Amino acid sequence: MSEKCDQNCEGCSAGNSKNTEEKPDFSAQPHELSNIKNVIGVLSGKGGVGKSIVTSMLAVAMKNMGYNTAILDADITGPSIPKIFGLQGRARGDAKGMFPVKSITGIDVMSVNLLLENVTDPVVVRGPLIAGTAKQFWTDVIWGDVDFMFIDMPPGTGDVPLTVFQSVAVDGIIVVTSPQELVSMIVSKAVKMAEMMNIPVIGLIENMSYFRCPDNGKDYKIFGESHIDEVAEKHNLRVLAKLPVDPKLSEASDRGTIEFYDNEWIEPVAKILEEMGEMR
Ligand code: ADP
Repeated sequence: MSEKCDQNCEGCSAGNSKNTEEKPDFSAQPHELSNIKNVIGVLSGKGGVGKSIVTSMLAVAMKNMGYNTAILDADITGPSIPKIFGLQGRARGDAKGMFPVKSITGIDVMSVNLLLENVTDPVVVRGPLIAGTAKQFWTDVIWGDVDFMFIDMPPGTGDVPLTVFQSVAVDGIIVVTSPQELVSMIVSKAVKMAEMMNIPVIGLIENMSYFRCPDNGKDYKIFGESHIDEVAEKHNLRVLAKLPVDPKLSEASDRGTIEFYDNEWIEPVAKILEEMGEMR
């Protein structure tokens, strides 16, 4: 900061004023025993497009590349991460804070479903409490050393995910879409939200893009033509991956065996995240 700076940015042309691109810091501090290097928020326009499964696959890919990886399940009213990883146990805590539950391969997970006595209990909470719970997962959980944390955001591009973004120091956003959605509108909203927070959109992932017929190897666009490339170009964004509808994937997610699902599509995305992490 300039020695002459009087903190009054109006009319000031200095490059270090509040009017510049300096990232506004609304975020709470993570737990003192957490050291989290890269935080990636995974967003979608609505529920059911595969946000949780994409979050899980990204975490598995980064773990397979040798990184300490974690998932903060901020989808408080629809927490599906523990099921996708087949996590049975309950999260425990001590006087210092709560501990995440480790998956088979060592991915650390915290989710409301790891705190409930009965996982079929509905989580009936309103917006501010959703954001408050996600924030607590950030501030009160002892994550330890994490290279890549993925946040499974509450669905939508409204107030609730925005409040979560404001509480947690997210470094980049990945937007998951599907061909049957109003992709243009969702991406515009996500981009605006990211701009408000001064967080970069890393790129878009189109899920359920096509179905590859095992009998003839042909791809069928069962949910209609995709508009993802045009939308990405309009916003100057990257399409990171197009994932097929794969019955083996839904089976892995239902059985809690996502860590053993052979995933060739998400690996290039993991490489991009690795490069991003190295540049920071
Ligand atoms: P969201 O988090 O967006 O609500 P999920 O990740 O929970 O969505 O996915 C919703 C359902 O769709 C899950 O049962 C999941 O297994 C299934 N699913 C998602 N993507 C695919 C896919 N590409 N192929 C097959 N099933 C999928």
